Amino acid sequence: AQRLASDPMNEPHPTILNVELGERSYPIVIGPNLLDDGALLARHIDGGKAAIVTNTTVAPLYLAKVAGALRAAGREVVEIVLPDGEEHKNWQSLNLVFDALLANKCDRKTTLVALGGGVIGDLTGFAASSYMRGVPFVQVPTTLLSQVDSSVGGKTGINHPLGKNMIGAFYQPRAVIADTATLDTLPPRELSAGLAEVIKHGAILDADYFAWIERNIDKLVAREPEAMAYAIARSCEIKADVVRKDEREGGLRAVLNFGHTFGHAIESGLGYGNWLHGEAVGCGMVMAADLSARLGLVDGATVDRVRALVKAAGLPVVAPDLGEQRWIELMSVDKKNEGGAIKFILLKPLGSPSITTVPLEVLKATLAACVH
Ligand code: NAD
Ligand code: MG
Repeated sequence: AQRLASDPMNEPHPTILNVELGERSYPIVIGPNLLDDGALLARHIDGGKAAIVTNTTVAPLYLAKVAGALRAAGREVVEIVLPDGEEHKNWQSLNLVFDALLANKCDRKTTLVALGGGVIGDLTGFAASSYMRGVPFVQVPTTLLSQVDSSVGGKTGINHPLGKNMIGAFYQPRAVIADTATLDTLPPRELSAGLAEVIKHGAILDADYFAWIERNIDKLVAREPEAMAYAIARSCEIKADVVRKDEREGGLRAVLNFGHTFGHAIESGLGYGNWLHGEAVGCGMVMAADLSARLGLVDGATVDRVRALVKAAGLPVVAPDLGEQRWIELMSVDKKNEGGAIKFILLKPLGSPSITTVPLEVLKATLAACVH
């Protein structure tokens, strides 16, 4: 991602990153109070009409602001409010979006605006990819997780009763507008869950960034705007760079699953919704660091650093006792596996990934050390 000059008239300056994907390139704008800036929002909406998709939690907080700013900028606005929750990331909600778009005579030039967390962003992006064979969409992420992770990369979709994110499309937004002030209303657990993906970006791809997060973790937990804006920008830059090199998950993009093999096992072993995804990933990163050390890829001090940072972010560092056999079963169904062996994204050293299969005895040693 390339850093562009920001507008010197705006104080404080929003950061603008450009995700370089040829004709599908788009800007990520990061800064406080961007939702008040109707001109900024309207700049990314070509036609005269926008349909804002949000949910019952986010609507009372930010819908009037965004809709008002767009109307003031001369756009016609349709408001679509869905029920809140991962359990509503399904075809029924998708169909509610299509119903509202058709009832309001939205045509090919209508831009969909996703106002909310990753659930709204994924579902709205997928709706945009298929409504009238594709209409433009803009991401307005309002959770830390969606600002640093799900709004960047073009993966959109919904869940199926037989699997998460099983129905979807790669579809890039026209722009991502990340207003850091929206994080002020986020519940603390959701903030910590987003920090897990921030820590992941440092651990796997940038040791200097990891050290910066260590020095600033208290400011991040306290939602200090400047620290937060830097972390969001650096994380988006790292993710955008991976996506630019591997838009459709041919290989490199797999490194973003650091901590996720253990994390997915925790989420599905405890039942989805028990631990938040970011909580499971936080603990999963500690386990992946432990495994890296057991294979001689990093030293014990690195494991201690990962554990301390995950803990300081307000995330769990002790894994739930699912039973050794169940743990191994759950990790064996992970998407990354080929030909039976479980593949792990490990550290070699901190700040760079190593993808490898692992001897079963070593994996069992990590489970014994990390599970209580
Ligand atoms: P979420 O969208 O469920 O949001 C979490 C909660 O916070 C919800 O209750 C939401 O209504 C509420 N909320 C949102 N913004 C708020 C605000 N500013 N103030 C107060 N409350 C607010 O969860 P999430 O963590 O943002 O996203 C998780 C989803 O993202 C999952 O469905 C996951 O599959 C998906 N995801 C997608 C990608 C991708 O590449 N597309 C990557 C990671 C995750
Ligand atoms: Mg994740």
